[in-house]
Amino acid sequence: MEKGKERGALIPGITRRTFLKASAATVAATGAIATNPWNSGMKALVTASENSQESEEKIFSSACRSNCFQSCRLNAHVRDGKLVKTTPAPWPDSEYTGCCLKGLSLVQRTYSPTRIKYPMRRVGERGEDKWERITWDEAITEIAEKFKQIQEKYGPRSLVFDVGSGNYGLVHGCLGIFNRLINSIGCTQLNVCYDQATGYGADRVVGGSVWLWGNEPRTMMDAKTIIVWGSNPVYSQPQNWRIAKDAQKNGTKIITIDPIYSATANESDEYIPIVPGSDLMLVLAMMREIMNNGLINIEFVKKRTTAPFLVRKDNGRILRKSDFNTDLPAEEDDYYVWNSVTNSAALLKQAPEDVAIEGTFTIQGVEVETVYTKLKNHVQEYTLEKASQYTKIPIEKIKELINVYVDGPTMIYTNYGIDHYQNGHLWSMAAFMMASLTGNIGVKGAGFTGLFVQNIPLNYIGMYVTNFNMADKESIPQTEFYKVVRDQAIGGKPYPVKAMYTTSSNSMSNWCEQNNWFTDILPNLEFIVVADIEMTDTARHADIVLPASFWFEVNDLRVAYNNPYIYMQEKAIEPLYDSKPDGEIIAMIARKMGLGQFFPEDMDDTAWIKVLLDSEDLRKMGITYERLLKEKVVRGTGSAEKPFVRGEGFFYTPTGRAQLYCEDPKPRVNYGQDLTGIIEKERLPYFKPPGEAWPENPLYAKYPLVFIQEHARYRSHSQWF
Ligand code: SF4
Repeated sequence: MEKGKERGALIPGITRRTFLKASAATVAATGAIATNPWNSGMKALVTASENSQESEEKIFSSACRSNCFQSCRLNAHVRDGKLVKTTPAPWPDSEYTGCCLKGLSLVQRTYSPTRIKYPMRRVGERGEDKWERITWDEAITEIAEKFKQIQEKYGPRSLVFDVGSGNYGLVHGCLGIFNRLINSIGCTQLNVCYDQATGYGADRVVGGSVWLWGNEPRTMMDAKTIIVWGSNPVYSQPQNWRIAKDAQKNGTKIITIDPIYSATANESDEYIPIVPGSDLMLVLAMMREIMNNGLINIEFVKKRTTAPFLVRKDNGRILRKSDFNTDLPAEEDDYYVWNSVTNSAALLKQAPEDVAIEGTFTIQGVEVETVYTKLKNHVQEYTLEKASQYTKIPIEKIKELINVYVDGPTMIYTNYGIDHYQNGHLWSMAAFMMASLTGNIGVKGAGFTGLFVQNIPLNYIGMYVTNFNMADKESIPQTEFYKVVRDQAIGGKPYPVKAMYTTSSNSMSNWCEQNNWFTDILPNLEFIVVADIEMTDTARHADIVLPASFWFEVNDLRVAYNNPYIYMQEKAIEPLYDSKPDGEIIAMIARKMGLGQFFPEDMDDTAWIKVLLDSEDLRKMGITYERLLKEKVVRGTGSAEKPFVRGEGFFYTPTGRAQLYCEDPKPRVNYGQDLTGIIEKERLPYFKPPGEAWPENPLYAKYPLVFIQEHARYRSHSQWF
């Protein structure tokens, strides 16, 4: 081959190898090497590249485990024991294959100079960056003793585990083995409630907790229209966006509703700007128009929603058979509906020939109205005029949007953009009701996507449960944590909090109102431990920091988000420096705390993967450790020909129907707050303005501008900084 024309030559005469050598030499010559943040990564690349002819490249099946909700599968290329490259690994369904620049830059993260190299104890003030190196034995002994002392003195709940989403491994990450420890010592785990409002609102309509509301992204290919609502997948979920673009090429129209002319808006067929925080008003007005103008899918509404159920006017409860027979066994209970053929009351299980969805009736002296009537009356205040005034979208444009929406299948692409408003859950509650009214859910090409989570029956009990000394995961919402630490109480009741262990999270960077760390959290915590791969802000303010091994240095298992696979992640390189895998760190602490019987020395990450996969339900699905070891990746649900559509057969509600009235709305976290009057109000979605940036708020006169941000393209939460 002619010199300078080797395959992969960057420019004539310069090969990749000589380029890397030259780059390193240039950097060194200019003195920039001391400040080049990717110095170590570049060195690794150069060294491996120099030896590339001599050393054999090994490829390991791996993954990007950040929390961008994409779960890209990666090949980890290793030479001479060093990670030299990451490339997208193929999924069996090639529609999902790909990764973004963040995934391609993981060599740099692996060898980042900000890696924590060995255990350290703070010797200066918190945040002063004065540390002394200690051994693992010293670190683990001190942590275990302090945890035990604090739990004995202040009670088991005084030790708090703060777990973020910086590692989505099922053994070492945020769903992993730390659960086994916290469920053995009865401590507290902070309740992550500052997002997921989309799922919280969806749950009131279609069930499935905060997670199970989205379709497999491939189903976007079947949509006539995709409405990207309050989301910027071009930056935040590039793999999903690629599928949306494929759909667009096939004729699907993409409309983006967003206050910002985002990269996604730019790539869409139509952009509808909206006032921040007013999305809820828009969807309520759309529902009103749809109901008032007969644009509902009547068959779907009768058969798949609770529209025909009857609400008591005296107490707001759904009328049941047990209302007239309090001794009725629960399994014999039933819902009343109105038989429109016989014009009389009927029970649902009697399968009346036809049911009324509108009307007010009296049954055995009890006045009732249908759920549909109640909802329809409720939304009458949300007129097009009002919606246009609040959203600044012209009335004609809203009408056009309604016509497009009902002419489905229409899919709404959303995620956590709107849910950062205090009315976020009401928006998704209304949006899921609108989808249910129009039959735009539970069928191909319709429904919602943006967050697709699989319901895979792993053996979590085998991993999480030991002596039933279960952690308290409910009492402290993360957003209230600073108050609990400050007051050592919650809801007026004592709740001493003295120590914290943070893993997979740069909480100081990620939580809102960061000043609270300095005013309330740090001064009132006696002992803080952070296990991380990098010296984050949170780690800098800890008392002990522990070096965790990075994703490529451990074996792990993952159930993907936003694609339908379960996959193995093979250890590609040895743990760098003096780091240890998170799972091993947890086991060491547990053993020092006297819990060795639950964390035997011979249980490594492979053994825990086997525990997770030891499930009869999984075996019935044909998913075993041996199969995963061989194939690396196995589909957990649906197929390329028949991708998973949420709600196709039933919804995860007590009746299996989509609920157009939520009889028992639950608070996201019930920590003793005053709920007077709130439960009744939250049974139906209503317009609740944003907290501050709203014309009716007195602050608005002084601060009329609203500051909102786009999702950063090159970060996932605080990772890749
Ligand atoms: S950051 Fe997200 S899109 Fe990028 S490689 Fe990782 S999982 Fe994939």
